[in-house]
Amino acid sequence: MKNRDGYFGEFGGAYVPEELEKVLSELENAFFKYIEDEDFKKELRYYYREYIGRPNPLYFAKNLTEENGGAKIYLKREDLNHTGAHKINNAIGQALLAKRMGKNRIIAETGAGQHGVATATVCALFNMDCTIYMGETDIERQSLNVFKMKQLGAKVVAATNGRKTLKDAVDMALEDFVKNSEDTFYLLGSAVGPHPYPVMVREFQSIIGQEAREQILKKEGRLPDYIVACVGGGSNAIGLFNPFYDDKDVKIVGVEPAGLGIETGEHAASIGKGIKGIIHGFKCYSIQDEDGKDLPVYSIAAGLDYPGVGPEHCFYNDSGRADYVSVTDSQALEAFQLLCKTEGIIPAIESSHAISHGVELAKGLSKEQIVIINLSGRGDKDVRQLMDIL
Ligand SMILES: *Cc1c(COP(=O)(O)O)cnc(C)c1O
Repeated sequence: MKNRDGYFGEFGGAYVPEELEKVLSELENAFFKYIEDEDFKKELRYYYREYIGRPNPLYFAKNLTEENGGAKIYLKREDLNHTGAHKINNAIGQALLAKRMGKNRIIAETGAGQHGVATATVCALFNMDCTIYMGETDIERQSLNVFKMKQLGAKVVAATNGRKTLKDAVDMALEDFVKNSEDTFYLLGSAVGPHPYPVMVREFQSIIGQEAREQILKKEGRLPDYIVACVGGGSNAIGLFNPFYDDKDVKIVGVEPAGLGIETGEHAASIGKGIKGIIHGFKCYSIQDEDGKDLPVYSIAAGLDYPGVGPEHCFYNDSGRADYVSVTDSQALEAFQLLCKTEGIIPAIESSHAISHGVELAKGLSKEQIVIINLSGRGDKDVRQLMDIL
């Protein structure tokens, strides 16, 4: 397996206190053991198929393609997964690993609540004890997801430090993990954090790209010209991108949130505007000042406003394998409405960032070319917020 040591060029690693080192090395050993284990792989495939509903379609967006002119646009339909997004792919994988490790208590952090809901879902499925850390501010903003998590049997604990958002929830989860590592598994929600999380989350999410690659070969008899995905922490994107890494003719584009506009400072474009630094125990591009203090980030999409980004993306950027661009709130809103009207698909506002750029890109290409856009999730969770805006 690639990046077994936890480094992607100079990025990644595990910059953590000693107590955490021990816990992470136990996790690392278990992960590398089970990911090669036939029984484990069989069980994972079973839940992907029977519970999540995989493989989901690689859908040819004919109306959108015709209206847009230019390249053929295909959508990878992660929005059709159980719970409505890609996050469940990773949650199932990590929960199965926790079971193999004999840990029956799961903890997780959540910002907008999507990862919290995915985690609470798998804990209900596997009858595991579940605690979700969530910033106090986010608990107020995301009451619907808090309600769901509670119905699914999770305890939701408020993080009351700092700005009372995602970063503070992660800090609390890490603290809990160190203290209770005997029986506790920290189920992290994106391709970030100290080693082995970025590698592990990528492996569980790479089913997206594996399927897409097989599906496009079957439908078109060739690989796409471009693959496009939105980048928050970077898990849906790396899940799509990684299986195409060696296909050098396939161009890879990650789309970061430009918020109110890069020039306003109100954004979360970690690769575009960040500096190299350490956040949550790993090295990446992140939005922080020269002293390493995290600065506030903003996006209309709650799932994208994280100050750091997965180390594999930082490496793809610096090595030139992928390009990273950004899309503003208002461009994402336009793409949201466009997909609703042309295809009858209500996308998540996070995914709408990828759609916006993918559609623009396709416009400038010829009719023979192919663009795959990852539709990371459905927009049901966003309609209340968007109702007030649109
Ligand atoms: C959480 C979320 C994202 C962002 O997370 P990544 O780790 O960058 O994939 C994107 N889309 C949807 C629908 C999400 O719920």
